[in-house]
Amino acid sequence: MPRRTKIIATLGPATDDPGVLERLIQAGVDLVRLNLSHDSHERQRARADAVRACAEVLGRPVGVLVDLQGPKIRIGRFSAGAVSLRAGEFFCLDVDCPLDAGDETRVGTTYRALVDDLAHGDTLLLDDGAIELWVQEVDDGIVRCKVVVGGRLSDNKGINKKGGGLSAPALTDKDLADLEFAARIGADYVAVSFVRNAEDVCTARRVMEQAGGQADIVAKIERAEAVAAAADIIRAADAIMIARGDLGVEIGDAELPAVQKSLTRSARAMNSVVITATQMMQSMVDNPVPTRAEVFDVANAVLDGTDAVMLSAETAVGRNPDKAVLAMHRICKEAEKQTLARRSRHRLDSVFGRVDEAIAMATMYTANHLGVAAIAALTESGSTVKWMSRISSSRPIYALTRQVATRRKVTLYRGVYPVSFDVENQDIHEVNKEVIEELLRQGTVRYGDLVIITKGDRRGVEGQTNILKIMRVGEHTLPSED
Ligand code: PGA
Ligand code: MN
Repeated sequence: MPRRTKIIATLGPATDDPGVLERLIQAGVDLVRLNLSHDSHERQRARADAVRACAEVLGRPVGVLVDLQGPKIRIGRFSAGAVSLRAGEFFCLDVDCPLDAGDETRVGTTYRALVDDLAHGDTLLLDDGAIELWVQEVDDGIVRCKVVVGGRLSDNKGINKKGGGLSAPALTDKDLADLEFAARIGADYVAVSFVRNAEDVCTARRVMEQAGGQADIVAKIERAEAVAAAADIIRAADAIMIARGDLGVEIGDAELPAVQKSLTRSARAMNSVVITATQMMQSMVDNPVPTRAEVFDVANAVLDGTDAVMLSAETAVGRNPDKAVLAMHRICKEAEKQTLARRSRHRLDSVFGRVDEAIAMATMYTANHLGVAAIAALTESGSTVKWMSRISSSRPIYALTRQVATRRKVTLYRGVYPVSFDVENQDIHEVNKEVIEELLRQGTVRYGDLVIITKGDRRGVEGQTNILKIMRVGEHTLPSED
């Protein structure tokens, strides 16, 4: 059985070395993430090109997810290198301090509106929560803070406000340009950082459409406000990413597990897709094996129903990028054997709005209860397999499509595997036979297995699936009516 949970690997300097990308894809990477917080468009475009060339050679579609930087609020730089902050002392964030002129007493910031969002008593977290500052007063462009937790502070570190409430809009000018870049390189997904509400998601989608791009929109949940608005955001986006780095800083690390579980549950229940991200295998940046805690983290995300698990620094700058992918692969596969990951009570009480949706639901009910070996869905847009894959199952769902964009998109959906199949050029009476022959060629079914095929009377048209056909491999060469 193939692994169902998908693996996303962030590309970076460590994956630019010759041969690394091939090894990553061979190790099982389903999508790559281009993190636009780093590197030039040229460099990122070269990575996307390399991925597609490599995927072509290996005969395996790999999705491309472009991750926008968003309004990451940062301090400026220090004129004489990193400074040391000691608990009890004072330190100022000063919007009028030049960005390269920080010292032991103050530093500039990229976010001039900071002073408007802060008041006496607020808590600021710097460098992913490593340093904690308590706001004593805000006056004349200067935020005067008392150091609560000190430490070494170096250039350009991030600033978060505990509990959320920094008003910066989700899309900066750089993000707007980056959305157009994502459209130009034909990204399959664009992740929008620091969304506050559904409106931010809609804006990103509008810009993507205006730029002529086809990318689906992933909303990164990493602000306290976004957790409160989760239902609306899930509805507006195509997928969510639980971005545990910034989110943990804003809401507190102890709150993360419950929020992660609840977001995963909501996304699946609402027919959306979910990525679990950040520090899943952090120790593997340096080490060849994960910690026990990391093993549990990945396995628990799988048991909770995530579509994909993501690697960030582990692959982008780590010493063992392919080992991290192989470790994830191993852990996901083992976790997927648990009944918890295979059983479903999904949408038992809901009414279906569309014929193709009803076919998708009936297919999974049948597959899970009859014990079919595989599901083969003839699809144009991929929406049928998306509905199917919201249901927990151990049965593989093959998305057979002539659309290259759809083959790349479904790389994210749990338990769905893309197969190139040109339904338009088939004799109408031969389609079922050809589908089964294709699965036999791939070695995914054997003689005697049951297979469910879903398709539409009107071939090659989106949203037309209206047939659920159960076939036995071996009898598929007999004449069939449809
Ligand atoms: P980032 O997002 O890596 O772009 O910061 C992920 C996170 O915050 O967890
Ligand atoms: Mn983040």
